[in-house]
Amino acid sequence: MRSQPLSPARPGKVWLVGAGPGDAELLTLKAVRALGEADWLLVDELVNPEVLRHARPDARIVRVGKRGGCRSTPQAFIERLTVRLARRGHVVARVKGGDPFVFGRGGEELVRLRAAEVEVEVASGVTAGIAVPAALGIPVTLRGVARGAILVTGHVVGRHAPDWSALARSGLTLVIYMGLARLGEIVAALVRGGLDRATPAVAVESGTLAGERVVRASIATLPAAVAEAGLASPTIVIVGNVVALGSRASSMALGRAVA
Ligand code: SAH
Repeated sequence: MRSQPLSPARPGKVWLVGAGPGDAELLTLKAVRALGEADWLLVDELVNPEVLRHARPDARIVRVGKRGGCRSTPQAFIERLTVRLARRGHVVARVKGGDPFVFGRGGEELVRLRAAEVEVEVASGVTAGIAVPAALGIPVTLRGVARGAILVTGHVVGRHAPDWSALARSGLTLVIYMGLARLGEIVAALVRGGLDRATPAVAVESGTLAGERVVRASIATLPAAVAEAGLASPTIVIVGNVVALGSRASSMALGRAVA
């Protein structure tokens, strides 16, 4: 860390950096530049520590996630710290798993930083919902099979929960983040909404990382299969006919359907 107070003539700056889903090679060149420019790196839970080798040797690295034994650092505290450091003239990298704006609270931080008149730049990341299925050979918007894909949270309940029955009828590939804890409820809602119980689905724990675990099943049987395998966080769930493409036998059948 710099020992001298920084000159106010050098304004600070915050990078909102996406570190990708896990595999450290799925880092953008912009993210590598941002990591190398930072005086301080405030690093979220899902970030692969390997990406931090792009930080300068004299940079301060603070892990603000739950892993490592502590409870996660409250969001408001992280935001205050980020503003304070930038106002002191530091370059700060807020390093987040996947993409900072996909369920990563990057949007909230952007608003807070702009309100504090701090310069912000975004280094987009490769989001888990696209790269994790891709690594298994599942193209989430395969033409002729899915007319699109939707990134949806499985974490929110009540009035603000996704409209699962509308999604069941949408013809979109469903990419469900944070869906593990409520998988049974989500699947029941999708089936009630009219989703074919035989629709292929996959749940992937720690996708693109060495410890990756994959559970494939029909949507109706996925909750039991996931429970049986004991999948834990982070797990992403993909639902839709494109999922068949990630397994050899069905991919040949699907290939014929697409051709
Ligand atoms: N900003 C991140 C998502 C943060 S929300 C992104 O763009 O990828 C956290 C959720 O993302 C996890 O609960 C899980 O559903 C998903 N996730 C992130 N990394 C993952 C990985 N390597 N494997 C499986 N799921 C992952």
